[in-house]
Amino acid sequence: PIQNLAEQFNWLQSALASSEKVFSIMDIQPQMTDAPDAIELDEVKGDIEFRDVWFSYVPGEWVLQGVSFHVEPRQTVAFVGSTGSGKSTTAKKIAQLLGINYMDTGAMYRAVAYEMMKRGVDLTDIDKINAEIRDIDLTVSYSDGAQHISIDGRDVTDKLRTPEVSAGASAVAKAGNVREYLVAIQQKTANQYDMVMDGRDIGTVVLPDSPAKFF
Ligand code: C5P
Repeated sequence: PIQNLAEQFNWLQSALASSEKVFSIMDIQPQMTDAPDAIELDEVKGDIEFRDVWFSYVPGEWVLQGVSFHVEPRQTVAFVGSTGSGKSTTAKKIAQLLGINYMDTGAMYRAVAYEMMKRGVDLTDIDKINAEIRDIDLTVSYSDGAQHISIDGRDVTDKLRTPEVSAGASAVAKAGNVREYLVAIQQKTANQYDMVMDGRDIGTVVLPDSPAKFF
């Protein structure tokens, strides 16, 4: 049994090392350059139509494969799909095409986690998280199309992509008061501005009345 335990321990250690490696790779900022023959797109004011769109960051590795849909002005639309199916890529492309902002709601959960960890809150204590969120003031703003999140007036945007904050975000996302607080900000922003919103509960909770949902 001792040998078995040691094997399990080794196995755990190597799994941990591998996952840290994956997180560090995910944190590398992609460097993007336009193709030499790329053309500047005019700002789009009318309908949006994606007709059999294929897109890849790396030649041959498609992130969008034959995506087709049609959106009319003022229409609220939800994209629903499995991890890695290209929802964020599509959403970012649309925001870029329309010259409107792209709201990354995951970053809001990350910002709450960052602040709670900074305050020393035990992230397994849901009651404590539910109480502490009442004392946190989160604001989302945009400059040059980039999203910035401030907590109590301090910009924390560049602190949110660490493995610790990723794990913390999943923990705070379980707290009802956190969800209620962030969903209210998301709904208010969606009512005020044209924007593309990214997050797992946009079509079900944040904007449940979206007339079109793509699966
Ligand atoms: O998308 P991202 O990895 O930045 O999200 C961080 C975490 O925040 C997710 O793992 C999830 O637990 C939570 N989240 C959520 N609802 C959202 C966006 C993110 O619960 N709309």
